[in-house]
Amino acid sequence: MEIIRTPAEMTAWANQVLADGQTIGLVPTMGFFHAGHLCLMRKAREKADRTVVSLFVNPIQFGVNEDLARYPRDFSRDSQLAEAEGVDVLFAPEAQAMYPPEASTRVIVSGVTEGLCGASRPGHFAGVATVVAKLFHIIKPHCAVFGRKDFQQLTVLERMVADLNWDVEIIGHPIVREEDGLAMSSRNVYLSAQERQTALCLFRAIGHARRRVRTGLVEAKVLLLEVEALLQQEAVTIEYVSLVDQATLQPQAVLRKGTVLAMAIQVGATRLIDNDNLFDD
Ligand code: AMP
Repeated sequence: MEIIRTPAEMTAWANQVLADGQTIGLVPTMGFFHAGHLCLMRKAREKADRTVVSLFVNPIQFGVNEDLARYPRDFSRDSQLAEAEGVDVLFAPEAQAMYPPEASTRVIVSGVTEGLCGASRPGHFAGVATVVAKLFHIIKPHCAVFGRKDFQQLTVLERMVADLNWDVEIIGHPIVREEDGLAMSSRNVYLSAQERQTALCLFRAIGHARRRVRTGLVEAKVLLLEVEALLQQEAVTIEYVSLVDQATLQPQAVLRKGTVLAMAIQVGATRLIDNDNLFDD
């Protein structure tokens, strides 16, 4: 596996691969890999001839009071894991190389960025869309794999490529969970043993919502109250609990195919998100 540190070298590699008539699959990440990241890498390998994983803790998607400085990092472990997955290139640029001082462009997606995480993290999705747009230009992938764990992010990026007529296939990968149901996240290392138990309320909430939908509940208002009550049994602060349409991210009054339960909570100092498409098998 090659480790590439500069956008210019990355593009030179991509141009060579394209000249050879091969396709490129990209997995954008912020590193500190867990099994979820590795599944995305496997998916990219299935879909394209060559696989690039980007590892970049993107400063412009963090708010001023967020965890940029303490975001977990372990480059040598990450590079071993990526190599073991058969990744061809780990692209790990410095922040300076991605955002030289004169850089002044942001990609702004409106609408789908406004609710859910966008409401409490102003500028976050502009940071995400901007870095992904840059990665697409630098790496020239045919497809890019993103996790449904960050379901709003996936929707925002689908919007971006559609709106900008970008010839990149965006592939959504199902959420990868720990055995007890907690969605895998690099940020789970922040949780104490007790917080780790508390965090399971998200998965319990999903189980409850699925059961209620299966038994014919259609009123979103009722389900929202039930889910909130269930979460409030634990020592968590609810940021949002929403039932939204999977494509528009608009709140739904009536539960139906395509309705997603999306949640963000704070457990101690750690912010956790989870979601579930309630009518999926
Ligand atoms: P991150 O490094 O947290 O920015 O995540 C990189 C990619 O991995 C994003 O597309 C995430 O949605 C995806 N991802 C993170 N955790 C999971 C998970 N538990 N299941 C599936 N995809 C995930």
